[in-house]
Amino acid sequence: MEGVSAIAKVEPLTSARSLRGPFDYRLPGPFAGTEVGALLVVPFGHRSVLGVVVELAEDSELEPERLAAPLEALDLGVPPELVRLARWIAAEYCSTPARALSLVLPPGTGGSGARPRIRPRTALVAALTGAGEGALAGGERLGTRQREVLEQLHATGPLPAASTPAGHGTLRRLEARGLIAMERHERRRRPRSTRVGASAAGPPPLTLEQERALIPVAEALGARRAERFLLHGVTGSGKTEVYLRAAACALEQGRGAIILVPEIALTPQIQTRVEERFGATVAVLHSGLSDGERFDEWMRLRRGEARVCVGPRSAVFAPLADIGLIVVDEEHDASYKHESDPRYDARHVAEARAREAGAVLLHGSATPRPESIAALRRLRLAERVDGRPLPPVEILDMRGARHALHPKARAALETVRRDGAKAIVLLNRRGWSNFLTCAACGHAWECPNCDVTLILHRAQGAVACHHCGHREPAPSSCTACGSPSVARHGLGTERLEHELGEALGADGFPVIRLDSDVAGGRGAIATALARFEAASAGVLLGTQMVAKGHDFPDVALGLVLDADATLRFPDFRAEERTFALVAQLAGRAGRGGEGRVLVQTLAPDAPSLRLAAAHDADGFLAAELERRRALRYPPYGDLVRIVCAALEPGAAAAAAAAVRARLHAVPGAAVLGPAPLFRLRGRERSQVVVKAADRAAAIAAVGRAVDATAREREHRHAAFSVDVDPQ
Ligand code: ADP
Ligand code: ZN
Ligand code: ZN
Repeated sequence: MEGVSAIAKVEPLTSARSLRGPFDYRLPGPFAGTEVGALLVVPFGHRSVLGVVVELAEDSELEPERLAAPLEALDLGVPPELVRLARWIAAEYCSTPARALSLVLPPGTGGSGARPRIRPRTALVAALTGAGEGALAGGERLGTRQREVLEQLHATGPLPAASTPAGHGTLRRLEARGLIAMERHERRRRPRSTRVGASAAGPPPLTLEQERALIPVAEALGARRAERFLLHGVTGSGKTEVYLRAAACALEQGRGAIILVPEIALTPQIQTRVEERFGATVAVLHSGLSDGERFDEWMRLRRGEARVCVGPRSAVFAPLADIGLIVVDEEHDASYKHESDPRYDARHVAEARAREAGAVLLHGSATPRPESIAALRRLRLAERVDGRPLPPVEILDMRGARHALHPKARAALETVRRDGAKAIVLLNRRGWSNFLTCAACGHAWECPNCDVTLILHRAQGAVACHHCGHREPAPSSCTACGSPSVARHGLGTERLEHELGEALGADGFPVIRLDSDVAGGRGAIATALARFEAASAGVLLGTQMVAKGHDFPDVALGLVLDADATLRFPDFRAEERTFALVAQLAGRAGRGGEGRVLVQTLAPDAPSLRLAAAHDADGFLAAELERRRALRYPPYGDLVRIVCAALEPGAAAAAAAAVRARLHAVPGAAVLGPAPLFRLRGRERSQVVVKAADRAAAIAAVGRAVDATAREREHRHAAFSVDVDPQ
């Protein structure tokens, strides 16, 4: 053992960007055993704040007498490896240690106030002692009640006091005689899982392809090598089964596993499968849990009661010790990126965590990112498990079309209804219509805070901004000229549901909508999915949610209404997104039966659509990598984006120009901008993008440039946000 450390370096959990710790505190007697990751309440200026011990030291540069001591230590700490991970995140994403540490705290800790808001729930548990066993066997004199209790404990083992047949008084008297022992135990609040697609059978025998894919993964696990794999398997090829077998390998070694999924509400199937396979050793962590449940799931992981964690991006911070495997399912999914400071990418964090833990990293997708193709060892699953071919995909040219549905699409839906089959329809736009104009004077309804049009949500009787949440009552007349003729343009999922309902809906043929407006939130999403699965026929329509990893065995038709919508974004990932969306939707169709896919588009010749229609992922990836190489986009260069925002006209652009002026000498980097962005939440915005050859140097340079600019008087009203690897 090393000597007891005298000094703790503590990072106070304050949100102020300018405060950079860590700060030294002395550790007098009562705090002698303090470890990295401990949570301490410390005096800080005139306040007391919660802080995380990030390092221990023998001595301080300051004189020990001048150092303050902590006021209190919480019983619960953060594992040291997560403290290291958080510090790495702070640097990697130009954030602050405090903000990064807040990602790894026990649920209910941090935020406002130094004290945790959630505590373990405990219960008194009664257990028979040796003397108690003797008393039962030896026929010692006992009251009827007392004997009853002892007999029950003898039969069942320890029980919560509340579940024994006796009152508190009886238990206390038995305890006083030494016949039972009473102890407080933590009782975990377990979330209920929504079971979708559950099956009672054990693990199926692997297909030959699955077996081949599993071998190198199992080998790396066995040898404790931190290898990185990409399971590139067509939709329906059984990737989940490979994850489960790999996780079983990790568990056999006594190590833990994290399985990351895009969004748990959308992927209840995988959670169900993991729970079926591994039972009580599974914990789930996601925002749909109550505070108490989340705290308890966290505790089960921290205490080693659970060894497998399933959850969305934040589950990469699961407090599991000795991780053997991290799985990133549907690794192409944009939800792995966290969109507020620290703007971490869970895929990149998973890589860092796996490296540090000596764990295997296993990404999986039917439409992997070019970045992953370039960086990870690829394992292929080329065939669907059921041996069926991928469904034929037909592109429908919508240029000059007068109706939202192409005649062929209309006919195909009609056929599905007549045959009593199922269809999935993708329209990546929520609401009733995308914008309103006055037919008399041309007035358009726009958000007062953002430069975008307001979207009509008819059921709510409101128009809403999809960027800032602004809402107002749906207009019945023009606010500019008073004319009552308000024209609605474009088609959203709400109106599509209405129209398909009118055209096709009937008893036994439900039309089910799935988007983030569906009332009731999370639970409603799982319910909608379960309803569609249980129905023998019907239509599931919605935003990209409908294209995510669902495994419904009997979808005869997949239909994409606006395949080029994603292409119209001025973003280097537009091609990748479009390809993935169409390929993923195609992947939902024709499992366990005949299927076909129709893709409506205004850009029928777009290569990403052509290649998706041909199921040519390799062709797409090769071309995309070539294009990225030429343009020095990831994986051939890293992007760092700085967005400046300000209320005052011109201030955002001025701040962006000042940042840019400080970025002249980043080695091998190209700096683009400042370029204006649309106004958001009442603020003008301007961005600068750095295309970097040297990632670490660029991140450091951007950090310095932003800090220096933010400190300048003339830019004090501007807000700065830095996004490394922007989506
Ligand atoms: P993917 O994630 O690759 O799209 P899934 O993991 O959803 O595919 O698997 C598709 C279907 O095949 C699921 O219903 C799954 O239970 C089933 N499956 C997977 N592996 C096997 C196997 N070895 N034998 C039989 N069925 C399997
Ligand atoms: Zn008008
Ligand atoms: Zn707005």
